[in-house]
Amino acid sequence: GWYAGRIYGVLAACYLLIVLLSENARHYDRLVQNGADLRIANDSLLEMSMQDGLTGLANRRAFDTYLTEQIAIAQRHRRPLTLAAVDVDHFKAYNDRYGHQAGDDCLKAIAAALKSCCQRPGDLAARYGGEEFSLILPDTDRAGAAHIAAAVLNTIANLRIPHASSATAPHISVSVGAAILAGESSAPLAPAQLIAQADRALYCAKENGRNQSVLSDGEGVGFTPICSALNAPAAPDSSARAASMQGQALQPQAS
Ligand code: GH3
Ligand code: MG
Ligand code: MG
Repeated sequence: GWYAGRIYGVLAACYLLIVLLSENARHYDRLVQNGADLRIANDSLLEMSMQDGLTGLANRRAFDTYLTEQIAIAQRHRRPLTLAAVDVDHFKAYNDRYGHQAGDDCLKAIAAALKSCCQRPGDLAARYGGEEFSLILPDTDRAGAAHIAAAVLNTIANLRIPHASSATAPHISVSVGAAILAGESSAPLAPAQLIAQADRALYCAKENGRNQSVLSDGEGVGFTPICSALNAPAAPDSSARAASMQGQALQPQAS
């Protein structure tokens, strides 16, 4: 009887131990699984916080971070950097004529076209806000900027999205303002300065007839933008108007 009691006790203790160990293993597995789920959720949250919901391009936050980073790298290695602001022409009129849903679809198509123009791994296409996009092109000088600007104008024109209310073209077009951080310049440059230069060039492109790209020639004097036409459309009066702007009007560069 005494032995039977002892054996029963030991067996019961062993059973309890086995149950506790297997419970423990189950909890541990669940903990590992929860950790993995949390990591996946965190990654997709981070991705969502850096991505524009409509177009899937990098959003303004990702743009700001990347531009700051790339300016620092370009200045450290004395490499050029191009920032191109891209704004859809007469987009309010497009919305008014075709509706907001068609406007959204148009922005998605433009975003995909811009992405296709960014071929290098370091290139970034971002939605800056509304119908304005931005390209950050590391290691890209004036000739490279002209090449990409031409590609952007052509790719978007070739989408052939009808825009019957555009005063510029029968289809959707964009204007591009580019600013270049020269590789040899060592004076520190804030991202806001480069953005302001690209904006001024964009303003010139708009003023000069839209559907074209203009390059900023730097800070400008006072409030007068100094810009050069990078790629102008073949409209008969555009080159005359480009020449009348301050700065040098260039022949479109071969792409
Ligand atoms: P400009 O050629 O001078 O650039 O003229 P614009 O009409 O393109 O410029 P404006 O700034 O007057 O209008 C921008 C329009 O873009 C107005 C706004 O309703 C539209 N827009 C901005 N964000 C979105 C969006 O997410 N979806 C749609 N469908 N439209 C948008
Ligand atoms: Mg616009
Ligand atoms: Mg705009």
